[in-house]
Amino acid sequence: MGVKLNPTEFNTIAQVLKDKYRLYGPIRRKGLGAFSDTDLITYGEISCLEDMVWEEKTRFSPKEIIHPITQTLFYFTQDEVMEPKIDEKEMILFLRPCDANAVLKLDHILIHNGSCADSYYMQLREKVKFFVVECLTGFETCSCVSVGSHQFLNYDVFLRLAKEEIVCDVKSQEFTALFGRGEIVDYQPQFIHENSMKVRLPSIEALNKHQADLFHHPFWEDYDQRCIGCGRCNFSCPTCTCFTMKDIFYQDNPECGERRRVWASCMVDGYTEMAGGHAYRKSFGQRMRFKTMHKIFDYPKRFGTPMCVGCGRCDDVCPEYISFRTAVNKVSHLLGGESNEK
Ligand code: SF4
Ligand code: SF4
Repeated sequence: MGVKLNPTEFNTIAQVLKDKYRLYGPIRRKGLGAFSDTDLITYGEISCLEDMVWEEKTRFSPKEIIHPITQTLFYFTQDEVMEPKIDEKEMILFLRPCDANAVLKLDHILIHNGSCADSYYMQLREKVKFFVVECLTGFETCSCVSVGSHQFLNYDVFLRLAKEEIVCDVKSQEFTALFGRGEIVDYQPQFIHENSMKVRLPSIEALNKHQADLFHHPFWEDYDQRCIGCGRCNFSCPTCTCFTMKDIFYQDNPECGERRRVWASCMVDGYTEMAGGHAYRKSFGQRMRFKTMHKIFDYPKRFGTPMCVGCGRCDDVCPEYISFRTAVNKVSHLLGGESNEK
């Protein structure tokens, strides 16, 4: 069973929720797109239904709300270190099933990867409630079904958003009373069954068996010419977690400052550079191989699930029209499996 609301009723609930939560959803930032006169669709704080943009895919994912692009870890003076205050409010993320699954992929890396969780991530992650929005058509470059990220059942509230009515399945007791003011209707959350684009993930066994051949395969050299190492693919990806550290010294007192972590990318220059100028992966082809194998081999081998959620953002944003999906399908093809791409 579900609850049917009209937009005004939904917005009244949103206003009540805002007392305890910050609400985040996909929004339009006018004129901030990659080209002049284009808008950036990204995640940001919202107040009402009308603030959200669902007809276009966001360039960046909700990842940046719980794993921010730049995050102060501590402030320092000559003799003191202080951690920043944490916003007391909890958070509600309005997101599609693929992006909700991407948060679970982040959890593997930032919480369950080793003996202790990343406390900075945990502080934000613990505050999150999932308001998952039904997505039955996807976008042209999506391949969520192929990687099993088209469904998400561990939601707090599931919503079907239509222009004149919103139908909700409320799972979390915390929200039952609030949503109880709507009309009771028959409703079961639905998920997309097929994307027009498909990705064929090679099996871990095949990758294990042929990893030495794959490592040296000349196919990766194609990317030496095509990739420019801009890192857009990583920064738009909802499951990439790499970061680097920056110490910032204040101009008016250079002995005081703050340490921040900022997103990093395995595709950009300097990522593997070490003392003495040595770098593990100098060519763009080597970096593409690393990124691809990390997503389809190392991560699933360790956590039992593919790292990619098939959102297609990496393909959407690449200025060189490099398709990660095609790279994965080529690997599959090289290993003797069927490929959906030529
Ligand atoms: S690798 Fe590409 S398709 Fe997969 S989750 Fe990252 S951005 Fe989305
Ligand atoms: S977005 Fe494209 S060009 Fe830029 S680093 Fe990624 S694959 Fe290379």
